[in-house]
Amino acid sequence: MSSMQESAMKVEEKLYQNRYLVDAGRPHIKVLPHDKPSKALLSLTHTCPAGCYEQNERGQVEITADGCMECGTCRIVTAKTGEIEWNYPRGGFGVLYKFG
Ligand code: SF4
Repeated sequence: MSSMQESAMKVEEKLYQNRYLVDAGRPHIKVLPHDKPSKALLSLTHTCPAGCYEQNERGQVEITADGCMECGTCRIVTAKTGEIEWNYPRGGFGVLYKFG
């Protein structure tokens, strides 16, 4: 095995190096009240890379924004349906990426 292969880290291991600072009580993404989620909103329960979206027992989609990587997928996916309110976290909060 070459030294390059030995030092290669899996993506999951690299992501684990990042840290997240929760802005308690001030989530930067909100799902707006709804009775039934659109397909787009529902799809986020599978596509959010941080696993922030879940369906509750009433079939509505909820978000726990802790761990959000600010990738913007949910913002783009629901751009037409307008079911979420998306903002960047306040300065100093949210994901703290470790580079290198
Ligand atoms: S921005 Fe990305 S990581 Fe954050 S909640 Fe949306 S899909 Fe998930």
